[in-house]
This record gives sequence, structure tokens and C-alpha cells, in this order.
Amino acid sequence: MTKPCIICCAITGSVARKENNPAVPTTVDEQIESTQAAFEAGASIVHAHVRNDDQTPSSDPDRFARLKEGLEKHCPGMIIQFSTGGRSGAGQERGGMLPLAPDMASLSVGSNNFPSRVYENPPDLVDWLAATMRENGVTPEVEAFDLSHILQAIRLHRDGKLYGKLYVQFVMGVKNAMPVDREVFDFYRKVMEDRAPDAEWCAAGIGANQIVINEWAIAAGGHTRTGLEDNVRIDRNTLAPSNAALVRRTAELCEKYERPVATWQQARDILGLKSAPAM
Ligand SMILES: [Zn+2]
Repeated sequence: MTKPCIICCAITGSVARKENNPAVPTTVDEQIESTQAAFEAGASIVHAHVRNDDQTPSSDPDRFARLKEGLEKHCPGMIIQFSTGGRSGAGQERGGMLPLAPDMASLSVGSNNFPSRVYENPPDLVDWLAATMRENGVTPEVEAFDLSHILQAIRLHRDGKLYGKLYVQFVMGVKNAMPVDREVFDFYRKVMEDRAPDAEWCAAGIGANQIVINEWAIAAGGHTRTGLEDNVRIDRNTLAPSNAALVRRTAELCEKYERPVATWQQARDILGLKSAPAM
């Protein structure tokens, strides 16, 4: 049997607003509802940021706590992944929700440019976030915006600094960072296969490239991410009606390449995460 493909849905992010697409869930209640539909459509990981009432990005642990509680109730078994990507300039508050012990949290291990700012991840902050994840039993998903981030993730994991199984996400198509490039993508995969054969990898593309990277990752045997955080359109002229719609088109690609869509149980097994408590 071919390996199941884990679909992650990045529901909200820190940039897209209702003005860009009214389907972007920004309140905790909207996030829970949107995630439940994405879960039913085949997503087994939810990647979440939280927002303030005015839609600006927030690091408020109370909002994360309410979100986690609602997700556990309405999406039992789904893997909950909180973002520590956070806001420009923010330091340790980016990890303020880690004591809530979500299954996973995103972790950036190096710096790079974003569309209009430097995405700053100094070594001491990376070490602190990784250590706090270890203390709370949180498996990182390393966000690799560059080749050096993949190599750094492998090194940190080998040194025992990353909790659990190594899981690296290739992010391509962020303006001013690594573009969507087939040769680079193939080299990323080769680096993972040669140097971290026991690890798992996934890939995410930004904007119109979301579907391109979904297809490359699914065809190559990796896992993949979709959702309104990375892309608000379903095609060039049409806004995506929901996170679930983006999950469905990813699931259709899995079918095209005869990859079963991973259930939450399979996804937990593949990523070495604890099984969810029986609901
Ligand atoms: Zn994110």
C-alpha cells in the first residue's frame, strides 16, 4: 500500500484578513467551525495562529487555550499545531502558549526575508523555543524557508534539541525568500532522504503556488499543507470558499497519485505522536 499523505490545514495565519477573503476565520469560534469542516474533508493537522478582535495577530495564551479546548471537543483526534512564528520583533512571547502542550508547534530555526520585513529567528530564541517544546512534550514542525534551515533542523535533532520525531516542512514561494523551484525542491528531498532517513517531510507553497507544491509533494511521497493562511484563492479569479474547499482539492490530488489521505490515527502514527485520549 502506498504511504498515506498527511494533509495539514493552515486555517488563519497572521496576514490574510476578512477584506482579502471573508472565509478567513479570525475569531476562535470561527476557527473551530472552519477546522471542523477541514477535518471532515481530510485534514489531520490544524496549524493555527490566533487573532485579536481587530484581526491583528495575537500571542495571547488564553485565546490559544480556548481554541485548543474547542478543537479537542469538535475535532477529536486531530493533531493540533500552534504557530510560534508570531509577529515581527516579538521574542519569547511567541512561545507563550507552549505550556498548553499542543501536539505540535511550528519552529523556525533560522532567519530570512519575508515580503516586507526580516523574519528574525536568532539562535538564542530558537534554542529557547525548542527547549520549551521539549519541556512540554511538543513535537516541532520545522519551517524551512531555506536549505540552511533544513541542515540546521537535522543538526538540532541529532543533538537532542528537538522533541520527538524530526518533521520538516519546505516552504516555497514566500516573496523575497526561496521561490518555487523544482530542482531546489528535489534537492531538499534528497538532503532529507540522505541525511535524515527516519524523518518525515512536508511542503507548502504560497499563493497560486499552493496547488503546485501540493502536487509535487504528493507525487514525491511527502506530506503537504493547504489552507487560507498560505493562499486565499481557489483559482486565479475566485476566492476559496473555505479552508475545507482547499483541503478537498488537495485530497483530490492524493487520489490522482493513489495516495490515501491519512486519517488522524495514521498521521499520529507516522509522526510518532501519542494517540489522542478516547473521546
Ligand atoms: Zn503559520
